[in-house]
Amino acid sequence: MIWEKDADAAIKKVPFFVRKKVRKKVEAFVSDKGRDKVTLGDVQALKKKFLSKGGMESEIKGHDVSACFGGEGCPNSVVPSGRLVKDIQALMEEADILSFLRSEVKGDLKFHHEFRVSVSDCPNACSRPQITDIGIIGAAVPGITTEPCSACEACVEICPEQAVVLGDMGPEIDTDACLSCGKCMRVCPTDTLETAKTGYRVLLGGRLGRHPRLGMEVPGILSHDEVVDLVRRCLKFYKKHSRGGKRFSHVLESLSQVI
Ligand code: SF4
Ligand code: SF4
Ligand code: SF4
Repeated sequence: MIWEKDADAAIKKVPFFVRKKVRKKVEAFVSDKGRDKVTLGDVQALKKKFLSKGGMESEIKGHDVSACFGGEGCPNSVVPSGRLVKDIQALMEEADILSFLRSEVKGDLKFHHEFRVSVSDCPNACSRPQITDIGIIGAAVPGITTEPCSACEACVEICPEQAVVLGDMGPEIDTDACLSCGKCMRVCPTDTLETAKTGYRVLLGGRLGRHPRLGMEVPGILSHDEVVDLVRRCLKFYKKHSRGGKRFSHVLESLSQVI
């Protein structure tokens, strides 16, 4: 689908968390009309529909699971997350957040009511997992083997966090600074550095809006099954404590004040 310049500029003004969805809607709208070029008029027609009474509500699914494009061949991907995204989507559907929101929210549902999960395949975090209800980031933890180090310094040079130093006995890793991006293991020519563990870092309770907040990181690197279990428990917790459409992050905040 071709986008005219002013149509593309208009879509870029749509809030990023619904932009992908709106872009798809516009393209489907244009395609239904038998065309392959999106004009500014198409974007404006859809905008009018969205802003009309009940127009937005018909588009709301109650939840949203988004992923970065690591699965499309991004070389930085450390953990393919396709299966995890599918499993989380299934959990969301099972939890039926839409019915829950309809029973809790007075008036029209809005996109900001949706429960959002965002998955990134590496710490570059292109899908912005830090500002969603549950953010998941692929992680590859480096380990040091007994293979002799050639002191080539490739690992030191490539680490974006300056977390690797070369000591007399070979590489040393500052585990507090390391973000488990996997870069140092990939460049090590002697296999002195290896992937000790892969999994996911998880952040809970991020949001944007008037009072933005970054998600709080759960300690450790979680396996696929542990992430799925954590998401399941978070959804249960959210449905038990959220009233009137209160966001997950607000629920976590208010409960932490009474504990
Ligand atoms: S988060 Fe990492 S793996 Fe995903 S698209 Fe961005 S750079 Fe690639
Ligand atoms: S995994 Fe990434 S952040 Fe950690 S030490 Fe290696 S290059 Fe640095
Ligand atoms: S990349 Fe491997 S061989 Fe080179 S300095 Fe680092 S650990 Fe040693």
